[in-house]
Amino acid sequence: STPSLEYIKIRHAHRQFITPEGGIINALDDISLPIAQSEFITLLGPSGCGKTTLLKIVAGFEELDSGDILLDGQSIIQQPAHKRPVNTVFQSYALFPHMTVGDNVGYGLDIAKVNKVERNQRVATALDMVGLGGIEQRLPSQLSGGQQQRVALARAIINRPKLLLLDEPLSALDKNLRLQMQLELKNLQTELGICFIFVTHDQEEALTMSDRIVVLNGGRIEQVGTPDEVYHSPQTEFVATFIGESNILSGTVIEKSETGIDVDCDGVTIHSLDTTPELGEEVKLLLRPEHLSLTPNGQEGAQAQLTMTLNQTVFIGSDYQLHGALENGLAFSALTRKTNTPLIKDNKVTLYYQISALHTIPSKKKPT
Ligand code: ATP
Repeated sequence: STPSLEYIKIRHAHRQFITPEGGIINALDDISLPIAQSEFITLLGPSGCGKTTLLKIVAGFEELDSGDILLDGQSIIQQPAHKRPVNTVFQSYALFPHMTVGDNVGYGLDIAKVNKVERNQRVATALDMVGLGGIEQRLPSQLSGGQQQRVALARAIINRPKLLLLDEPLSALDKNLRLQMQLELKNLQTELGICFIFVTHDQEEALTMSDRIVVLNGGRIEQVGTPDEVYHSPQTEFVATFIGESNILSGTVIEKSETGIDVDCDGVTIHSLDTTPELGEEVKLLLRPEHLSLTPNGQEGAQAQLTMTLNQTVFIGSDYQLHGALENGLAFSALTRKTNTPLIKDNKVTLYYQISALHTIPSKKKPT
């Protein structure tokens, strides 16, 4: 059968907290989201945006004030956590320190009284899947952080959950191991064919692993989309600035034709190919630093240029980050390859870009 695109349905989820000072926090403010059966979906947002609250509610560790969560058509919010076909992997591996790896991984099967032969075989398979075959007899203290997190993963998948929740599981690992584990996690999810809901505040991590990213801000969904969509077509200024580096040019449409608009940004005129904004409308344009170049690259599409006064140049290995200001004083940055142009403070440099690389952030719809 084809995997359901709406295997999990979060419907109008609301959750408030009252602070000790008596303030009200809308941790979840009307979250609705369908999730597919074999999807790697990431909840991404700054601290306090409601990621963990949503995950805890799906797991059954926290309750909704109103709304519902359906799994394969059935509401699960009345079920206690241990009855849900859902497991969670936390940042802290939470292994039992006095139990061997094998007993940690097999714990769920022992509770369910699965016979020893099958239990041992499934423990071995789960450890194989996370790349740790044959270490059943070790104690958690004899393992590295990355290995302990793999054991926690093996423990979480052994009873074949329909849904795996991962709450910043890689944040305790060092950078290289983290990058490696990101790819391994994605592979594991594909192999298992089950849904992973992954929580992180790390944009790159979200872009690397996810089928779709849910960007949360203040308990609300800002945007849901593929990594490509949220990066290249952010629907709000928050998404544009939270994911990746960005230059945002705010201005007013002063000319409009069939081929585009001219936007006056405090004295700097920018041409955009977007014809949806109206004359006189306030718009915000996004130009990513990596779309700017010190030399015109004349292959395809119309180009435009901006003049920036350099303030600071940072060598980051493969590229240079240039920070400075446009003629209108707007702080601006570019990411460019090595160049013959002298990059001296207070020098003026010309930055070229394809006009098609400009993205218009839709203006906020008036609340209805
Ligand atoms: P982080 O990345 O820091 O973990 P988060 O996005 O996971 O943040 P949540 O932990 O879901 O955010 O919290 C959302 C909001 O609800 C925050 O403002 C938080 O302070 C508040 N909150 C969460 N749990 C409680 C609680 N038990 N009592 C009061 N306020 C809470």
